[in-house]
Amino acid sequence: MGDRAIIHVDMDAFYASVEQRDNPNLRGKPVIIGGTSDRGVVCTASYEARRYGIHSAMSGKVAKRLCPDGIYLPVNMKKYKETSREIHKIFERYSSIIEPISIDEAFLDVTGKDYLLAAKNIKRDIKDELELTASVGISINKFLAKLASDIEKPDGFTVIREEEVIQFLRPLPVTKLWGVGPKMEKELNKLGIYYIGDIQNYDVDVLIALFGKRGKELYEFSFGVDYRPVEDHVLNQSIGEEETFREDVDDVDVLIHKLKLYSVNLSNKLITKGYLIKTITVKIKYIDFSVETRSMTLNIPTNDDAIIFTISKQILLSKFNMEKKVRLIGLTLSNLIYPEDPIQLSMKIE
Ligand SMILES: [Mg+2]
Repeated sequence: MGDRAIIHVDMDAFYASVEQRDNPNLRGKPVIIGGTSDRGVVCTASYEARRYGIHSAMSGKVAKRLCPDGIYLPVNMKKYKETSREIHKIFERYSSIIEPISIDEAFLDVTGKDYLLAAKNIKRDIKDELELTASVGISINKFLAKLASDIEKPDGFTVIREEEVIQFLRPLPVTKLWGVGPKMEKELNKLGIYYIGDIQNYDVDVLIALFGKRGKELYEFSFGVDYRPVEDHVLNQSIGEEETFREDVDDVDVLIHKLKLYSVNLSNKLITKGYLIKTITVKIKYIDFSVETRSMTLNIPTNDDAIIFTISKQILLSKFNMEKKVRLIGLTLSNLIYPEDPIQLSMKIE
């Protein structure tokens, strides 16, 4: 392996698997969590439900059209959070550097350890003790470990070794690169770039001229270079507010006003709890039920409502299509940190 060994663990169809575990009648059946109302959205679909074409973020209405006989269950977040904590306890047996990135996903830094054994044991413990399956990816950094965990899902176990990285990345579509969404994909396609190998062959100076710092990052990612550390002080939490409008909105000032209200409320929450946040995410659901989220991560953590509002407004105005009517707008703050710990703050601010 390289200088570092990183494991990415991603639970398989997490919410649905927890429900199937707890109720044998649900096993082997298409189970859909969320989307119980027509205006709701699917959070997780069991693998049986995915065969009908159902996937997360799909509207409940569409899901029911695809699979009318599916079992639609409400989100039982309390239960999933408890299970998530149990999973975290298992992680702690194998590493003290753990970065949870969502309720069912985390990075572990296992540098200097027997990383294959650690990954195998994590899967075994999750299976034996919690009756759930996880997919794990093992590699030299976060980007590659996450890519690896996705390859053999469900119940996957994939290693990408340092010497295989460039060849491994070459044939993959550019959307597999960290942070390349549909918009960036279009930009790259215009340059004749479709596969990660195309970026490897591109002139890095041209990419920098076109995309600035992002261009350099893309080039580095295309060779599997990713120096980001596993940040174990980042909490597996986020806070947010969202609202579905009674009538679809096409007035951007109404959306901005909502962001302002959310910013004040969420900032108050942060101050009461003593947290700072680093990542601001705006979510929009359009009239056609398509959902888009766009985020920005700050260098310096904050709890200031004016900063949160300014940035969320900027995200709204610069990253969304304001030509379509909007059904819902939400604001989420994540990457929470405790500022009390002086080490964390100094690390962040320098
Ligand atoms: Mg998952």
